[in-house]
Amino acid sequence: MEKISAKTAWEQCLEIIKDNISHQKYKSWFDPIEPVKLEDHTLTIQVPSQFWYEWLEEHYYKMLRSTLRKVLGEEGKLEYSVVLEKSDNKADTRSVQLPQQPMPSSNSSNQNIDNYSQGNPEKIENPFVIPGIRKTKVDPNLNSNYVFERFIEGDCNRLARSAAIAIAENPGSNSFNPFFVYGGTGLGKTHLIQSIGNKAKQMFKDDLAVLYISSERFTNEFVQAIRNNRASEFSMFYRQIDALIVDDIQFFSNKEKTQEEFFHIFNALHQDGKQIILSSDRPPREIPDIEERLISRFSWGLSADLQLPEYETRFAILRRKASDNGIDLDDDILEFIAHNFKSNVRDLEGAIIKLLAQASLQHVDEIDLPMAKRVLKDMIQESKTQISIESIQEYVCDYFGIDTNKVREKTRKQEIVEARQIAMYLAKEFTDSSLKTIGLHFGGRDHSTVIHAISTVKERMQTSAKHDRIVNELHQKVEVATL
Ligand code: ADP
Ligand code: MG
Repeated sequence: MEKISAKTAWEQCLEIIKDNISHQKYKSWFDPIEPVKLEDHTLTIQVPSQFWYEWLEEHYYKMLRSTLRKVLGEEGKLEYSVVLEKSDNKADTRSVQLPQQPMPSSNSSNQNIDNYSQGNPEKIENPFVIPGIRKTKVDPNLNSNYVFERFIEGDCNRLARSAAIAIAENPGSNSFNPFFVYGGTGLGKTHLIQSIGNKAKQMFKDDLAVLYISSERFTNEFVQAIRNNRASEFSMFYRQIDALIVDDIQFFSNKEKTQEEFFHIFNALHQDGKQIILSSDRPPREIPDIEERLISRFSWGLSADLQLPEYETRFAILRRKASDNGIDLDDDILEFIAHNFKSNVRDLEGAIIKLLAQASLQHVDEIDLPMAKRVLKDMIQESKTQISIESIQEYVCDYFGIDTNKVREKTRKQEIVEARQIAMYLAKEFTDSSLKTIGLHFGGRDHSTVIHAISTVKERMQTSAKHDRIVNELHQKVEVATL
C-alpha cells in the first residue's frame, strides 16, 4: 500500500472519477492531467493552467476529496502543480492543497499582506477602527436588538436559525463557512445574521473581531479607499476580522472591482479559518453579474433560506412584538393580523406599531378587535392590491428565461406550454379574473383549456418534487409582488 506510485494512485482515482461524471467531461478535464509524485499521502498532479485548477476546484472539489480519501486513506491530500502559461512547460512550484484549504489567495494580495503586517496597525484607516487603542479594536457595528432571543423560530427559518446559533458558538471552525442566508425582503435576514455577531461577541468578547457591514457600505468604502490610495490598508483591515458579516450581497452585482477585492478578502479569511456570513435576496446562483468564482465560493459552506412565515409563526411573532412593546393583545386581534398580513415579518411589525401608536394617540386603554380592524383597514387594502395577469406572465417567463409574448401566443413547444400552464394556475390563485378572462390573456384560449392547465399543474406538483418546488418558488415571488 505504502509503495504505490503516483501513477497507480492516479489511475485508481480515475477509475472512481470515471464512474461519477460523463465521459465527455472526463475526457475534457481529467484526461490531460499528469500525476507527478506521491509523498506522505499527498498526490501531486499537474494541470495545464491556473484556470484549469480553478475549474476543477469549483466543479469537482467534493468528488476529488472523497476520491482521494478512498484511494489514499483519510490522510489523503491532493496538490496541484500548475504549468505556467507563459514559460515553456515549467511547472509552477507553488502548489495548492486541496482538502483542507480549498483556495490560494492571489499572489499579489499575499504580497500586500506581507508588506503591511510589518507596519504599524494604528495606521490602518477605517471608520470601524476605534482610534487611540493600540491593538486595533474593531467596532462590530451591530444593532443590539437583533438577538436570537427575539428571533422567533418557525418552519420558515428552522434550518437557518439553528445553523446560525451553531456558528455563533463556534465561529470559523464549523462546516458552515461561508454561511449564506437568502430570502425576500423583510423576512429576517439582517436580524438573523446580526444575531450571530451579537452572540459571538457576547461569548468571545475582545478575543473575536466581528464586523457587520452592508455590501453598499463595503463598496463605498472600497471606492473611497482606492481614491485615497489606501486600497491595501482597506484589504489589511478586513483581513484581521475573525467573523465578517456582509449583508445584501446582491448589491455586488455588476461591481467588478469590488467583487475582485472581496474575492481576495474572502479567500484570505476562509483560509485562515475565519467565519464569513453573507446574506442576499436570492440564492447564490441567481445573483446576476457576479463572477463565477465568487458564486462558487458562496456555495462552499451552507446556504439556507428564510421563507414566508406560516400562520403559527406569524401569530407567535405578533405576540412577541406586542409584549416587547409592553402590551398583551387578545388572541382574536393577533389572529386577525396574522390572517391579513402574510407577506413578510416587517409588515407584521408595522401593523402592531401602527395599532399601538393609534391607541396611544386616542388614549385608548383597551385595544379591541373592532378598533384593530378600523386602524388597520387601510394597510390591509393596500396590501391586497391585485397583481395583473400580465405581471404574472412576466414573472413566470422571467423565471424560465423565455420571451413573455410566447405564453400569449399559440406556441405548443413543451417548455412554453409548461410555463403557460403555471402562469394560468397562478393567475387563478392571485387574481379575481374569471377563467374566461384568463384564457383571453393567453392567446384567446377558452375556459376549458384554463381548467385543464390548472389541474395539470396541480397534478404535476403532486408527482414531481421538482415541479412542486418550481411552482412554489413562483408562488412566493408573485405573493411578494402583491405587496
Ligand atoms: P430582511 O433583512 O430580510 O429584509 P429584517 O431582518 O430587516 O429583514 O427583518 C424585518 C423585521 O422583521 C425586523 O424588525 C426583524 O426584527 C423582524 N423579524 C424578522 N424575522 C423575525 C423572526 N423570526 N422573529 C422576530 N422578528 C423577526
Ligand atoms: Mg436586511
